[in-house]
Amino acid sequence: CTEVSESRARRIPFSVEMFPPKGQLTLDAARKVVEGLRAASPDFISVTCSAGGSGNGHGGQTVAIAELIQNEAATPAVAHFTCVSATASLVATEVEALRAAGVETVLALRGDLAPGQEPADFRYAYELIPRLKAAGLCVGAAAYPEGHIDCLDPRENIRHLRAKQDAGADFFITQLFFNNDDFYRFREAAESAGVAAPISCGIMPFLGKSQIQRMVFLCGSSLPAPIIKLLAKYEDDPVALRQAGIEYACNQLVDLGRHGVNGLHVYAMNQPDIACAAAEAVAAAGLR
Ligand code: FAD
Repeated sequence: CTEVSESRARRIPFSVEMFPPKGQLTLDAARKVVEGLRAASPDFISVTCSAGGSGNGHGGQTVAIAELIQNEAATPAVAHFTCVSATASLVATEVEALRAAGVETVLALRGDLAPGQEPADFRYAYELIPRLKAAGLCVGAAAYPEGHIDCLDPRENIRHLRAKQDAGADFFITQLFFNNDDFYRFREAAESAGVAAPISCGIMPFLGKSQIQRMVFLCGSSLPAPIIKLLAKYEDDPVALRQAGIEYACNQLVDLGRHGVNGLHVYAMNQPDIACAAAEAVAAAGLR
């Protein structure tokens, strides 16, 4: 956790997320993505763990990519770790592989079961966290400023956040959101409930209409009116729409930074230009 939290007093930690590239030669493709993201000088790069049958879940590419981030790119890696199909023995094996690779931080997640799939040994993230902590890892968890899709009661959402802290979570990264006021309200509620672990804000730019519709559907995040207007304005101009999406995300990041958030995390979607634009905007505002 040193790398994640040490720089907090001086500047706002800035990080990016990547996912294992699809298809063959994923490690070679991942290497190119990592190289590109590194140009943004992130404090860490997190790498997702797919719960689906993509071969990128447990036993897939996540650990190998975390290793190359950590060792080849000399950037701290955060490996996502889901409960889906995670038996106690698989956790032990994978933790050993992460530690051998020098990866010391994980993001503990429930993941989403496929229809008909039963949970393995851990049903919720708060059950997995102590196991990862006991292995000596620094452990983060997910936070939902607008609530999780399975939990629409805001007070319950905060109780579940607190339960993850009580289970040992050292920090949180949020689900994407487009209205910073949602985050500020959430932060206040979390603090009132005794959540003291740093919460990093996860921001994803909208790049196109179908991408944003899919994300909103999957995450339950709401689209504020200014975005709907931009989507309408640039409906026939995908290049301008993409640019507007990146600009909107940069403005969000700068506003969050000025409101003293604990961290800025960019869902860069394996596109280094997004990470670099975000890093530049944050730096230009004197926040890193
Ligand atoms: P939990 O914290 O376990 O919560 C899941 C649901 O159960 C919530 O609705 C919660 O309110 C509720 N709940 C919690 N405790 C209880 C309880 N005791 N009783 C009843 N209900 C309870 N998914 C992936 O597959 N791979 C990834 O790499 C990945 N990375 C992510 C990174 C971030 C930053 C975020 C925000 C999400 C990520 N996800 C990923 C998605 C995540 O797996 C899903 O959102 C999942 O549905 C919930 O995961 P969680 O860890 O928040 O679950």
